[in-house]
Amino acid sequence: MITGKGRCNFTNLKDWESFSSHIRSKASLVRPAFFNFPSAKAIEFFENQGIPTVVERGDRAFPASHMASDIVDGLVKAATSLGVRIMSGVQVGKVAYDSGDRVFNIQAGERTFSCRCLIIATGGLSYPSTGSSGDGYSFASSFGHSISPLFPSLTAIVPRGYKVQRASGGELRGHIDRSVPLSAAGKQLMGISLKNTGLTLFLDGREVQSVTGDLDFTDGGLEGPLGFQVSRECVKGIVNGRKAGISIDMKPAVGRDELLDRLRRLWAEIKADPRSRGINLDRMFRILLGKVLPHGLIDGFLGWNPGLGKGADLEGLARRLKDWHMDIEGFVGYERAVVTAGGIPPEEVVAKTLESKKQKGLYLCGEVLDVDADTGGYNLQCAFSTGFLAGQCAAQSVICR
Ligand SMILES: Cc1cc2nc3c(=O)[nH]c(=O)nc-3n(C[C@H](O)[C@H](O)[C@H](O)COP(=O)(O)OP(=O)(O)OC[C@H]3O[C@@H](n4cnc5c(N)ncnc54)[C@H](O)[C@@H]3O)c2cc1C
Repeated sequence: MITGKGRCNFTNLKDWESFSSHIRSKASLVRPAFFNFPSAKAIEFFENQGIPTVVERGDRAFPASHMASDIVDGLVKAATSLGVRIMSGVQVGKVAYDSGDRVFNIQAGERTFSCRCLIIATGGLSYPSTGSSGDGYSFASSFGHSISPLFPSLTAIVPRGYKVQRASGGELRGHIDRSVPLSAAGKQLMGISLKNTGLTLFLDGREVQSVTGDLDFTDGGLEGPLGFQVSRECVKGIVNGRKAGISIDMKPAVGRDELLDRLRRLWAEIKADPRSRGINLDRMFRILLGKVLPHGLIDGFLGWNPGLGKGADLEGLARRLKDWHMDIEGFVGYERAVVTAGGIPPEEVVAKTLESKKQKGLYLCGEVLDVDADTGGYNLQCAFSTGFLAGQCAAQSVICR
């Protein structure tokens, strides 16, 4: 219901070659599942449930109604029409394999359920308010699985000084809870969206990722497509004790020299303009900034680049417009991260069936696996494809026994 800001970007129509470049840690784990149930099948599935779809920029597919609830209703309708019984509000506390009776026992409160095959589809740790408690990792561990280090991804990264409180030294180094209030400097930037911007991520001073697109300053930190794109590497780096920093390029389409020429021309025009008579240098510099920056960003930009306005330093301005550096202190954690990176390693699962290599009859799918992807409908498609394959193979295995 909350996916895609309530619109549910449920798949992406790119072919495997492009699709797989958006998946971590090993896209090969998803490959057989994807070809068995590709994006086109997901669209067909929902259209068969009476849900027309639309494809938007970047091959992202949504229900034509733009209502995520239609997707939920379609899934529930398809399941119940096949006789599936859905029990909500029931938390599974423990799962175990009884090798005598050759069944899995699933304990949920007072009740115990038994089955010959078990699929763990419990998701990750992100957004605990949706029921994602990370239980699946302990269930899988109890069958001998290891868990690749977990960390939040597709989440806000927080510049130093953006919030009133520093990063916690808690379980995850660098975690800054979403609810921590903004500092005065953070308030100057919050709400600003930058279009066609360049963003480069540095770890320990070395460039690791460079992307171009839209960037949002929010109550969490840096978000929007660009913030999310670099968040995985950034969070992983911080958790592992590396120093993170970013450089924002406000004018990625022009080089610094060309930009400086343009600033000099604009500056000459402003000075020659009769309306500038009697206006001090600071005021004229702000007029110049208004010509090269969104109006709402001027105070924030000057606040975060102190000294820039003094003496109308055009070279300094050109440098800062091309390279606005911020140290990144931390990140918003699972409380608001879109996905959980890490999980059950690909080597411990048979990709063609998604059966566990540790426990026969146990299958794993979705985010509990060490599979996470960029925004754009890739995560749900991975969950649908792996869920479909795990379901098919578990059912076949029950029939064949
Ligand atoms: C805000 C937000 C927006 C998103 N938007 C998009 C988007 O537009 N497009 C996209 O592709 N992806 C999106 N994602 C990511 C996507 O939703 C997930 O990657 C995907 O849902 C993972 O599917 P899953 O089935 O593995 O796990 P989940 O969808 O998390 O489902 C796991 C289920 O297991 C239940 N569960 C867990 N433990 C237990 C237990 N012990 N007992 C009983 N039940 C349990 C949970 O309550 C949950 O219902 C978004 C995620 C968030 C948080």
